[in-house]
Amino acid sequence: MNTLSFNILKTTENSIRPGKLTLREKTIKTPNCILYTTKGSVPHLTPDNLRHLPFGAVQVTLEQFVDVQPPPSIKFPDGIHKFLNLEDFLVYFDIRDPSKIQTSSFNTDHYVSVRTHQGVRKITADDYIDYMNIYKPDIVANMADILYSERPGQNRVRKSVTRTLQWLDELLNSKKLTVDRRIQEGIHVFGALTGNQYREERKRSAEETMKRDVSDGVLAGIAAGIDLFDTSYPTKMADNGHALTFSLKHSQNQSDFEVSNSSTSNTIPRSINLLDPQFKKDFRPFVPMCTCIACLNYSRAYVHHLVDTREMLGSILLISHNLLQYAQFFQDIRESIENGTFEKDAKMFKDVFGFEELDPATITSSSSSEEASSL
Ligand SMILES: [Zn+2]
Repeated sequence: MNTLSFNILKTTENSIRPGKLTLREKTIKTPNCILYTTKGSVPHLTPDNLRHLPFGAVQVTLEQFVDVQPPPSIKFPDGIHKFLNLEDFLVYFDIRDPSKIQTSSFNTDHYVSVRTHQGVRKITADDYIDYMNIYKPDIVANMADILYSERPGQNRVRKSVTRTLQWLDELLNSKKLTVDRRIQEGIHVFGALTGNQYREERKRSAEETMKRDVSDGVLAGIAAGIDLFDTSYPTKMADNGHALTFSLKHSQNQSDFEVSNSSTSNTIPRSINLLDPQFKKDFRPFVPMCTCIACLNYSRAYVHHLVDTREMLGSILLISHNLLQYAQFFQDIRESIENGTFEKDAKMFKDVFGFEELDPATITSSSSSEEASSL
């Protein structure tokens, strides 16, 4: 039996505190992030590449497997870890792709609509339970009625909370995926929280979810402000030719991060766009002191050449850098919380890196999913 435990390591006056999630002899310190995948694969990297990066868990979404219903992958007899060659990783399973910020179609009390290459598919709670019973992920989030409009009406949000709780109940009380079977297979349930901008609905969602028999301690941690994020943001940035340059420990010389001499901004950019011709003769690494394979071995000039000519290595180097940079960012956050300097460091971060918004023309998806941030 694989027991999931979550412990808060240090209490603080506010809800910012370090924690530790343990499952299958793996420990994930929080706050942290789990690897975003498309179709169970981290874009541009092989599982061998991943083993050199400091991540212990991947997020897999059903939406990317149900072009055909039922998905052929359920015929594979040995579970999702082996199917994806990710046996070393904890697999967190959810229904929708967190990088999609638009609804695919409407949901009803009976199904969630998801978007596939072959069109919209309707997933019922029963379908979802059947698939999880076969995939056997380490953690499964119940189906959630996620609303994608910016400010949905209160009645619709109330319905979303009720539906999500109903689907949680269907998962927890399933005769096919019983408690005994979940224990035997090591499948843990995370309760998805909804409620959008309505505090009372968010509260109802959290309180009602906590009454259910969801994984021990996890929601207590969540209520305490512990968040897990996904890596869809650094992945999308890499796909758009950007190398992340932000860091919580930004004591390095600002000139190391200067993008061009013509920059008039007082702040350091949070990323550099390697497609920009200004990098043609820039022989520095993306970020000095970074220990990723890209920064240790390649220059901005060469990666510019690679991405400009659409060579595959360019994407591999960018994603390798961005994932390590993002993991380091979370490690720095945890240390900052441990040291009691988080609020000061966060303010300095904003002063140094500014509040620049992502360019919507190049970045088309959200930085983290509502579902992931509500874990
Ligand atoms: Zn790097």
